Amino acid sequence: MSTYPFSAVVGMDNMRLALVLNAVSPAIGGLLVRGEKGTAKSTTVRALTAVLPEVAVVPGCRFSCDPAAPDPACPDGPHDASAPVAVRPARLVELPVGASEDRLVGSLDLERALTEGVKAYEPGLLAAAHRGVLYVDEVNLLHDHLVDLLLDAAALGTSYVEREGVSVRHAARFLLVGTMNPEEGELRPQLLDRFGLTVDASAPREPDVRAEVVRRRLAADDDPAAFAARWVDEEQVLAERIARARGRLASVVLPDAALRQITTVCAAFDVDGLRADLVMARTALAHAAWSGRSEVDAEDVRVAARLALPHRRRRNPFDAPGLDEQQLDQALQDAADQGPDEPPDGPGAGAPDGSGQDDSGQDDSAVDEGQSSVDAGAGAGAGAGAGAGAGAAPPPAPEAPPAPAATPFRARLLTVPGLGTGAAGRRSRARTDSGRVTASRIPAERVTRLHLPATLVAAAPHQLARGRAGRGLVMRGEDLRESVREGREGNLVLFCVDASGSMAARARMSAVKGAVLSLLLDAYQRRDKVGMVTFRGAEAQVALPPTSSVEAAAARLQALPTGGRTPLAAGLLRAADVLRVERMRDPSRRPLLVVVTDGRATGSAGSAPTAPVEQAQRAAALLAAAGVASVVVDCESGAVRLGLAVTLATALGGELLRLDEVAADSLASSVRARTATPSRKVA
Ligand SMILES: [Zn+2]
Repeated sequence: MSTYPFSAVVGMDNMRLALVLNAVSPAIGGLLVRGEKGTAKSTTVRALTAVLPEVAVVPGCRFSCDPAAPDPACPDGPHDASAPVAVRPARLVELPVGASEDRLVGSLDLERALTEGVKAYEPGLLAAAHRGVLYVDEVNLLHDHLVDLLLDAAALGTSYVEREGVSVRHAARFLLVGTMNPEEGELRPQLLDRFGLTVDASAPREPDVRAEVVRRRLAADDDPAAFAARWVDEEQVLAERIARARGRLASVVLPDAALRQITTVCAAFDVDGLRADLVMARTALAHAAWSGRSEVDAEDVRVAARLALPHRRRRNPFDAPGLDEQQLDQALQDAADQGPDEPPDGPGAGAPDGSGQDDSGQDDSAVDEGQSSVDAGAGAGAGAGAGAGAGAAPPPAPEAPPAPAATPFRARLLTVPGLGTGAAGRRSRARTDSGRVTASRIPAERVTRLHLPATLVAAAPHQLARGRAGRGLVMRGEDLRESVREGREGNLVLFCVDASGSMAARARMSAVKGAVLSLLLDAYQRRDKVGMVTFRGAEAQVALPPTSSVEAAAARLQALPTGGRTPLAAGLLRAADVLRVERMRDPSRRPLLVVVTDGRATGSAGSAPTAPVEQAQRAAALLAAAGVASVVVDCESGAVRLGLAVTLATALGGELLRLDEVAADSLASSVRARTATPSRKVA
């Protein structure tokens, strides 16, 4: 079978370069490709292995041990030093977004361990990917649980499985490549930081380039083998160049001047920690090796900055991706200017391929103007303004400055009814892996949490029939019982906040923000994920996609402007959208929708006044039908009360709280909307 040739990919130059540099220097740490659908991202990734150097392995080892340095802990080992050596092509392993834990880390057969005393381990995808490429398409939709396992393995270079005291460990070092469509949700920051490089992939704009893409695609689909044959030579040349660069890498020098450029650029872009500096240095070294140079020069540093920094800048989730080229130029210039005793352009900084990066050009642009802070501080009305940056530009304010949040307080515990199966947390009741043991049961699948007393009790009556002779019980697979535990889970708390004119009275909005902020802090302590949808004027927007960063949510909330019409239905539908995507990503995390509103709904100028209310009712019914648990925080105030929030809560099948009931110590108890009496309307 022939994949599409790597050399034949058109218009994905950045992505191909980033993959090649990772192939030259796996220590760079992988690649994340962001871009819309239909840009040949996956085709390009899958094409990579054909140009990667072949891998020498111990024959028969399922963990791809290197014969020169076998893994001492290899489950298939120990390997004989004089064993024959096998060579196979580099491997690409795809991790499906919905894979089970067993599929990823491998599975231990507890049944065989107990009944036969055999440690039977079936390797998973992490073992298969060792010394190769692990590819995750739609990595932003990967279950949180798998993300954690992946992060652990990537950090340690090891996969570790433990079940009831039986454990297996094996080496798992791989080139991690992820692709994602940012419109479908962002990546957790911890996972984002794991990728050495990022590139944005978009379809080429030039008609001629597009034509060439289509032409090649048609030819490849028409006769894949013939098409691949046409590219054999190019592929060969590329593979040899990668192998040569890999061989040269160890001898490439990073001069002090280049290192200073790297650290200056990282400082200028206000990145977290030192990881960015390291990745940039490795990338610049790989690029120099790839370009056939023995020393890193300014062009290598520039390329490294473009690939290694965009996802490491400290910024808000909604800032535009990419890197400000002007700012990069400025930082490179600064590094040159600050050189200790040499002329700005250290030796060996000649731009080889005519790109003319002459950094010595002295122009007296205002170095201290700090344009950089425009993207660093935007939207951070939370007073978290960067201490390092120069005067932070205020966020664009369409109306009066946003109302500040009132002082937060301890919030009442809101829970999802029923018993969940989500990740450990401190909110709703759930079947969990930790928690206290409440019962035992016959396992539906392979046992991971053994209930030993119940297993012994199940085996005991059969001992005579099974012909027990010596010490110890005669165990059979059917005796196994697993523990049923109950604890608490974390949830996804999605806020749907009305920011329209009817809520806009400044004092009122401060109180609303204070209440939401209190619930946010509560969510942080309970290890929930949080997200926020807001609606005002013509539309609803996802102010914060579900994240574990409560700081980001708080900043969004503080900066939230208010005013305009009340598209309540749009807000609810948008919330339903967010929840639908989130359910794919993390099916066991149950959502709790918190709608903060006075229940009013208004449409555009011409529409009938009742239509928006009916639309909102229908949207609420849709959420209720999807089984979403919800709470309506009623923000209605004033002498004349319409009680619209009661109607909304009823349609949602959710709980109703008055704004002043959000606090944990408020005396009034919550009232289930279903049982809400009309008397609540005239409180
Ligand atoms: Zn081995």
